[in-house]
Amino acid sequence: MKIYNTLTLKKEDFVPIEINKIRMYVCGPTVYDLIHIGNARPMIVFDVFRRFMEFCGYEVIYVSNFTDIDDKIINRANEEKVDASDVAKKYIKEAIIDMESIGVKMPTFTPKATEEIDGMIELIQSLIDKGHAYKVDDGTVYFDVSSFKEYGKLSHKNLDELIEGVRDIKVTGKDQKKNFNDFVLWKPAKEGEPKWNSPFCDGRPGWHTECCVMAPKYCGGSLDIHAGGEDLIFPHHENEIAQYESNTGKTFANYWMHNAFLRINNEKMSKSLGNFKTVREIISKYNGNVFRLFMLSTHYRSPLNFSIDSDGKKSPELESAKAIYQRVCTCVERLLEILNFDAPNLDEPKEQIRFYDVSKSIEDGFLNNSDKDISDAFKSLKGFRMQFVDKLNDDLNTADALTAIYEIVNIANRFIKKHDEEKFACDELFKYMLYLLLIFNKVMGINVVNKKEDLDSEIEDLISARSEAKKNKDFKKADEIREMLLNKGIVIEDTREGVKWKRV
Ligand code: AMP
Ligand code: ZN
Repeated sequence: MKIYNTLTLKKEDFVPIEINKIRMYVCGPTVYDLIHIGNARPMIVFDVFRRFMEFCGYEVIYVSNFTDIDDKIINRANEEKVDASDVAKKYIKEAIIDMESIGVKMPTFTPKATEEIDGMIELIQSLIDKGHAYKVDDGTVYFDVSSFKEYGKLSHKNLDELIEGVRDIKVTGKDQKKNFNDFVLWKPAKEGEPKWNSPFCDGRPGWHTECCVMAPKYCGGSLDIHAGGEDLIFPHHENEIAQYESNTGKTFANYWMHNAFLRINNEKMSKSLGNFKTVREIISKYNGNVFRLFMLSTHYRSPLNFSIDSDGKKSPELESAKAIYQRVCTCVERLLEILNFDAPNLDEPKEQIRFYDVSKSIEDGFLNNSDKDISDAFKSLKGFRMQFVDKLNDDLNTADALTAIYEIVNIANRFIKKHDEEKFACDELFKYMLYLLLIFNKVMGINVVNKKEDLDSEIEDLISARSEAKKNKDFKKADEIREMLLNKGIVIEDTREGVKWKRV
């Protein structure tokens, strides 16, 4: 596999530290509100990276944190007159619900900053002892960037340039910094703020310290891959490298992957612009699989635009992802019908799907088939299977990998039509198509196998809820449910015999 490494600005062959094992860490959200659709981008793309690596046979230790102490959390707690820890707990719970709704596999570990304070104090003390950090009068501890000669190697800036990029860190003791870029490792608590005892002062750690304590702790040493959004390159990740590497003398992470930003209506998404969209809001209108398909239709290093119609109801990007998603689902449903078997359990040992490819004798049977259409189709399908894997191996090019899948769907649809119109039968070929689509399902985390019974009962539930709403003269709600059903591809009709529904 090749990975574009922010550290070297090159696509490099990926070689893990330990054979067959990957240790990766992805910076997670600060939990002061519901997660937004920008936060979902690293969650989804690096989840696909993990799934693909697992599909290739690696054991992946995937660690992603929750930043549960921060100015934004404290401000929110003050607004709501509750404890900062209550705000954090509430939004961690909500974030997990949202991650599940968009098909993100739970990380192997999800450490929280407030549970790792001892490790942070230890690191800071060690940095002070080794001359990389210093304490000023009010107890603030700074990292001395001039003590780490490689400072700037990730963001490819020299120290002078870095002055422009520094976040406005609101800390006391600012004037006593030795260098402009020195960053806070520990800061004294202000009146009423959460605080922890430490040899420096009663206070709390700076943001950049948590990840370089939690990542090696949970991954078991230096990392293969450290990932996050591109805004984190500087100063967050640069500062993590400075702390870890000057403390241990070891490389922090061999590969640094950064996703580009998601924008709304071609503008930056921010609370102040009022164009902030939560995952919760989007998932109430579109399903999580559709949202994932949209995210993965663009390479993770390219900017991604999300727009909403002027009436504020529909997103053209999600509408088109929805149409594609439905096309793949319908194709899988038809293949299952033709093959007359239930969808295989995708949670079976991964090898069963990974190594599923036709045996030599079946392959020969395909290739020597007297029906040239079958032998040609098999060759194309095999080619697209290879393209799917090759594109993912090329710095996780999900956009082109998806194109290979759509080609497989096109071929499958042609044969489904032939089956319906000409009674064409070749179970092995249909089976091969189905398995290719199941590999796609597993690697992309986009569920295209809707168990018919589940789907039917969900629809029946919605129809009853709509009837109930009508009975209560809540026509707004009834219309909303009709719209939800339509979004699922279900049209309902009120007849004398009751409500009837059909798929469109
Ligand atoms: P935060 O909660 O701001 O620390 O962000 C959590 C993760 O989401 C980080 O990896 C950010 O880089 C990423 N992120 C935040 N906003 C966006 C966005 N608009 N597009 C893509 N990634 C984002
Ligand atoms: Zn981090």
